[in-house]
Amino acid sequence: MKIFKENNLIAERYILGPIQVNTYLVYEENAKDAILVDPGSKSEELSKRIKELNFDKITIFLTHGHGDHIAGVEYIRSLFPNAKVAISIEDSGLLSDPEENLSYFIDEEVTIKQAEITIKDGDTFKTGSHIGIARHVPGHTRGGMALIFDEMLFSGDTLFCESVGRSDFPGGNGIILVKAIKEKLLTLTDRIVLPGHGPETTIDREKNENPFLNEDAFWEM
Ligand SMILES: [Zn+2]
Repeated sequence: MKIFKENNLIAERYILGPIQVNTYLVYEENAKDAILVDPGSKSEELSKRIKELNFDKITIFLTHGHGDHIAGVEYIRSLFPNAKVAISIEDSGLLSDPEENLSYFIDEEVTIKQAEITIKDGDTFKTGSHIGIARHVPGHTRGGMALIFDEMLFSGDTLFCESVGRSDFPGGNGIILVKAIKEKLLTLTDRIVLPGHGPETTIDREKNENPFLNEDAFWEM
């Protein structure tokens, strides 16, 4: 587990499941409400940590509906029955469809119960006094969502360190993805980017060094 800290906002990163999804537990120090981004599989380390921090409210924010990002949801729900799950309307159908969420092709089939919360662009999520804003970033899936929390950006499978998400799955579109990343994410002031897979990066680094976001690559996608 690795800890990222910006003032009193903390993100703990757990790398979970066969496809090594980055799961983030996000909370303000000493706050009682937390956001859990993309629980990728059962993890005792993670569940112990949630118990230890003694939250009374947990919101599970799903950046999108692919199986590798949702496989740990029912485990968290079973341990913390008050946890509420949030996903965009466009990706909500993926939760109950192993072919659409790709788990059928990868490991074991994953289905989870429907989400309690529907996320739209501009919706807010909070921990303590920190407010996170959801941004619709389609192109990897139709309903991909990023979450911007102060100096942190949780980008799901849209923007990676020197790469972008695949766009060859159902609902994917490379031109839409690059456009959405440029308009919704690269326009932010510099901050740490915490993606759904792989290492952390920053907005400035991706503006300057991401080969998929320069004009030549744009036309090849
Ligand atoms: Zn994905």
